[in-house]
Amino acid sequence: MFENKVAVVTGASRGIGRAIALALARRGADVVLAARDQARLSAVAGEIAALGRKAVVAAGDLRREEAVEALREAALSAFGTVDIVVNNAGVGKYGPLSDFSPEDYDWIMDTNMRASFLVTRAFLPTLLEKGSGDLVFVASVAGLKGLPHEAVYCASKFAQVGFAQALDHELRERGVRVSVVAPGGVKTEFAFGTGRTPGDPRLEGFLDPEEVAEAVVFALERSDKARAFLVGLRPMSEPL
Ligand code: NAP
Repeated sequence: MFENKVAVVTGASRGIGRAIALALARRGADVVLAARDQARLSAVAGEIAALGRKAVVAAGDLRREEAVEALREAALSAFGTVDIVVNNAGVGKYGPLSDFSPEDYDWIMDTNMRASFLVTRAFLPTLLEKGSGDLVFVASVAGLKGLPHEAVYCASKFAQVGFAQALDHELRERGVRVSVVAPGGVKTEFAFGTGRTPGDPRLEGFLDPEEVAEAVVFALERSDKARAFLVGLRPMSEPL
C-alpha cells in the first residue's frame, strides 16, 4: 500500500511511534525515525531493515529548531522527498495543577505542540510542491475533552487538534490531507515517573500501541477522495 512512499515518524524510539513506523514499513514505506534516544532508534531501524525497507535515524530533541532542521536534511538527503509526516512525539504528566511548575508546562507544551509546529513547518514545502501528502497528528482523547489532573496535557493536546483542524482548512485544497488520531489510554512507557507507574494493572486494560498504529494506517489508506480527519479510539476498560 505504501510502496515508494517515504514516511517521517516522530517519537519513533518506542511505544506508539515505533508501532507506527513498523506498520508503515510492513506495508512498503521507507521510514525516517526521529526521537532523542539514538540506541533505541537504531534498534527500530534494525527491525525495519529486517522487513526489507530502508530506515534512517535522526536523533535529536524536536523542541529545538536545529534538531528539526537536521531531521529535514536527513530525510531529504536519504530519500529526496517525503510523503507522510506523523507527529507523534509527546510527553505527559498527571496530577493536581498545584504540582505543576513552569518548567513542566514548557516541557509538555513544547514537546507536544512546538515540536508539531516545527516538524510540520519543516516538511510542508515538500508536500505543497508535490501537491500531495499526509500530515498525521497523534493527539489524544485529552485533546477533545478536559480531564481532571490533566490540565496542561489537555491544553497541549487541544492546541495540537486546533492546529490540525486549521491546517485541514488551509491545506486540503492544495492536496495535503490532515488526520488526527485520538486514542484513550495506551500501554506504553508514557508518563512513567510523571503519573503512571510501570506494572500498574490498569495498563493491562489499555490499548496496545499496534492498535493505534492501525488507526494511523486506516487514515493513510483512504482514497484520494476521502479524509479521515478524526479517528477516535478508546479501550473497552475506559468510559467515553
Ligand atoms: P512513549 O512510549 O513515552 O513515547 C514517546 C515518544 O516521544 C518517544 O519515542 C520519545 O523518544 C519521544 N519524545 C519525547 N520527547 C521528545 C523530544 N523532546 N524530542 C523528540 N522526541 C521526543 O509514549 P507513547 O504512548 O508512545 O506516546 C506517543 C504519543 O501518543 C504522544 O503524543 C502521546 O501524547 C500520545 N498518546 C499516548 C497515550 C497513552 O496512553 N500512552 C494516549 C493518548 C495519546 P525519546 O525519549 O527517545 O526522545
